[in-house]
Amino acid sequence: MTRNPLHAGALLFSAVLLLVGSGLLAQQEDPLAATDRQILTEIAEHSEQMANLEHLTDRIGPRLTGSPGMKRANEWTAERFRTYGLSNVHLEAWTIAHAWRRGTARARVLVPAEQALAAEAAGWSPNTPGPVRGRLLYVKAEKKEDLEGYRGKLRGAIVVTAEPQPRQRVQERPLVPRPPRPERDFAALRRFAQERDEFFKAEGVQAVLRDSDKSFGLFNMSAVGRDYQPAPLPTAFLTPESYDLLWRLRKNEQLVEVELDIAGSEFSPDPVEVYNTVAEIPGGEKPEEVVILGAHLDSWDLGTGATDNGTGVSVVLEVARALKKLDLKPKRTLRFILFSGEEQGLNGSRAYVEAHKEEMAKVSAVLVHDYGSGRVETIALQGNPQVYEVVSKIVAPLRQMIGFEELSLRSISGSDHASFNRVGVPGFFCQQERATYGQTHHSQGDTFDKIVREDLLNGAQVLAVFAYNVAQLEDMLPRRPVSPTPAP
Ligand SMILES: [Zn+2]
Repeated sequence: MTRNPLHAGALLFSAVLLLVGSGLLAQQEDPLAATDRQILTEIAEHSEQMANLEHLTDRIGPRLTGSPGMKRANEWTAERFRTYGLSNVHLEAWTIAHAWRRGTARARVLVPAEQALAAEAAGWSPNTPGPVRGRLLYVKAEKKEDLEGYRGKLRGAIVVTAEPQPRQRVQERPLVPRPPRPERDFAALRRFAQERDEFFKAEGVQAVLRDSDKSFGLFNMSAVGRDYQPAPLPTAFLTPESYDLLWRLRKNEQLVEVELDIAGSEFSPDPVEVYNTVAEIPGGEKPEEVVILGAHLDSWDLGTGATDNGTGVSVVLEVARALKKLDLKPKRTLRFILFSGEEQGLNGSRAYVEAHKEEMAKVSAVLVHDYGSGRVETIALQGNPQVYEVVSKIVAPLRQMIGFEELSLRSISGSDHASFNRVGVPGFFCQQERATYGQTHHSQGDTFDKIVREDLLNGAQVLAVFAYNVAQLEDMLPRRPVSPTPAP
């Protein structure tokens, strides 16, 4: 192809324009915003998030805490951090009482007419002693006193404990998100569930069936039992369709008989070491002061934890890659932590906080990304109004550049930032647009196909700018008084 002289002239002209333009930009833009722009561009142009997330979900797979998959994920993320040139890359061990491995679960209705139910064992559920059969009973109890009325009435029963939630219906397309639920005290709910299951066991209940509270044949998953101990009773989740069927059958107290067979699940005989993956970009001026970015590497085991929380893992890895590559030399240390044990109650972050008690006074802030796909609308300050002004200034460039919204004072307790917030470290959460997260997280549908590339990039951009700018502040972020709430 011959070169058109006119074209060459136009090229030269635009090069001159570009030089003049960037000169003007440098004069006008404050240094903070200029660095922010550099960070955003690096991530937009060189993100490795899709490749990393595909590897984590498709090639490493499910990452249940205590499983071989989780250990492989720890080692692989450490290797990524090393490849990106980070310092002090290591796995930090803590211990769980028993690892648990899923076997098979089969359930069916026997009376009024035989038909199959779709079931999966709840996490840390023991096996049934072969197939168990019993009449289905609904126990309505929200606190310990409510259980008393059932004393002496439950022997041999298979129990359900919750009314079905309203379902997403097939004809609703596109999916209409449910309104957010009021914030729940997960620790208190877990404590009561344990008391209830111990009561059931003492009363001779054979098994518990639980509603998945999802739609379209998806399971939910959570752990039963306490602190990685085998649960008191065999417990299985049913799909919403199966649970709704049972609910309709038991209308007007009619006799319903069901069978459940959980087999082949295994508990490790001994305690098992599990790990958080940790890496750093050391601070140049105040290396002992730290800004932490976090996500949880563990997942439930039916799907591959793509949105819960592979997205957050890919975001944290990408921030590490981009900031290291730009060689920005932060004043304070940036620490990247990929937690384990989140899904059974924020256990990896709690173990981390406990093991690093003395250093907590030097942690300026913690920001966690754990809401799947969906761009970051803003940062939820988690009841830390004292930081509002200073963090607002930090994220001001983001508001102009990527449409970030006003900071939120919301408190969301369901992820690892809460473990830090509990001991007075300002711990924040990314408030994200609702994508498919609530529909598929903890289910067999939490897979790589749910990922939206642009949202991943957006998440990394927000975390990178936040972390770098907090690390550059004159002082650490101000703190609120330590909450008097005791840890569960
Ligand atoms: Zn999560």
